[in-house]
Amino acid sequence: MTNPLYDTLFGQHQGKSTTFLQLPDGTVITHDAFLQMAAQYANLLMELGVKPGDRVAVQIAKSPQALAVYAACAQAGIVFLPLNTAYTADEVSYFAENSGAQLILCDSNRFEALTPIAQACGAVLETMNADGSGTFTSRAHDMPVSFKTVDRSQDDLAAFLYTSGTTGRSKGAMLTQGNLLSNCEALTKEWRFTDKDALLHALPIFHTHGLFVATNISLLAGGKMLFMPKFDLDVMLDLMPQATTMMGVPTFYTRLLDDPRFTRELAQHMRLFISGSAPLLAETHTQFEARTGHRILERYGMTETNMNTSNPYDGERRAGTVGFPLPGVEVKITDSKTGKTLPQGEIGEIEVRGPNVFKGYWQMPEKTAEELREDGFFITGDLGRVDEDGYLHIVGRNKDLIISGGYNIYPKEIELLLDDEPGVLESAVIGVPHPDFGETVVGVLVADNQGDLDLESIKKNISGSLARFKHPQRLVVLPELPRNTMGKVQKKELREQFKDMFTPA
Ligand code: ATP
Ligand code: MG
Repeated sequence: MTNPLYDTLFGQHQGKSTTFLQLPDGTVITHDAFLQMAAQYANLLMELGVKPGDRVAVQIAKSPQALAVYAACAQAGIVFLPLNTAYTADEVSYFAENSGAQLILCDSNRFEALTPIAQACGAVLETMNADGSGTFTSRAHDMPVSFKTVDRSQDDLAAFLYTSGTTGRSKGAMLTQGNLLSNCEALTKEWRFTDKDALLHALPIFHTHGLFVATNISLLAGGKMLFMPKFDLDVMLDLMPQATTMMGVPTFYTRLLDDPRFTRELAQHMRLFISGSAPLLAETHTQFEARTGHRILERYGMTETNMNTSNPYDGERRAGTVGFPLPGVEVKITDSKTGKTLPQGEIGEIEVRGPNVFKGYWQMPEKTAEELREDGFFITGDLGRVDEDGYLHIVGRNKDLIISGGYNIYPKEIELLLDDEPGVLESAVIGVPHPDFGETVVGVLVADNQGDLDLESIKKNISGSLARFKHPQRLVVLPELPRNTMGKVQKKELREQFKDMFTPA
């Protein structure tokens, strides 16, 4: 093979008139039509002076065209760099400069704002819109529909993916062709994807979940994607009868459950529902099963490694866990201070090794050395434990660990109790600076539809199950928890909001 990523995911479909993408309005794009569009883009990229190994930063709305840029980059040996469409011009400026992108593709309405940024980092700026217009798209129409695939190897970089920035500044994870391929090969087998599958795809494609999990698996298996520009409940319900599988973040599932139109009849022909990117509440699991008869399959991954673990396809899908390591992936739990492996059952750092693990953070050698051990294990920054049956439980993020009066407190333990209290929809437990304890526990609650919460009785109820040092000093109620587009709770924002609670500025 000359270019493993392109040949395996895309090239195999050359000349096939099978459906690759189906849009909500019924438009169908065949594998072959998609590859022709990608080849035109690859030709144009070359004409614009982008060379193999260069970076192309893409901040365009989710569309078949946006995916074709991914394919074009793979074919031309270019590093694909998708950016969150919500990022402001200032944020794009950081990514463009940090990555040294040679070309920036943006929506037309961003052109003006990004022009000085592109100039400052010496990048070409072109536009591409979801409706098929834009300078790049129209110029590509004149390009040949075939392109000589550029030779690459498994070790060559395929993408830079910036982390979500939940715990700090986003970092550019360098992913090779081998990283991407090994992962989607493992997942396709684990989750039994075939060319008969039709995947409900409502995730963004600037994130590992929607791009390297959902899209790569569909490409590898040869199935089709019911491709939605964004999550829309009505569209989702409308398309479900045509689907076999769905991948989502937990909020997709709670939104479905909130709608009485989502019935057992509607879901019964589905083969598989998968969840990830943020923890799925046990309650969602139970409700979903009661409503549909399906047990959601929860898995665990991250920008730097794609997917690490998955609950089993056959066998028990255990609520509150992310299952077992994927074939070829090793997971160990270590002591954060000594790095030594901990006995089964103890909570520690989740470390991961395998062909899925990235090559490091772009231009952050120190950060890379801190998190990527010489023996190949990546220190994920997540805390977890493995239960007696081998299921991995994620306890939270290392950075969310609360240290109060010298004691380690894992927010998840308290959140699980709070979530069980009557009237509580969900909770987030954070550490807030405190003059005596360094940090102390604050619980942020969201009430369900029933209205007011009796905070005193909630405090009393949960304190019976918790050692004194874990008792929340205060409970506060918010209308909702701050979340990013992937449904991840932004504890950083909550900590900022309540930082002066006990230590007034
Ligand atoms: P940053 O690294 O910039 O702080 P981030 O870690 O949120 O941002 P991502 O790579 O998008 O960026 O997210 C990966 C993280 O998402 C994991 O490290 C883990 O904390 C969380 N995660 C993913 N899947 C699950 C899951 N099933 N249950 C709990 N947490 C999950
Ligand atoms: Mg992270």
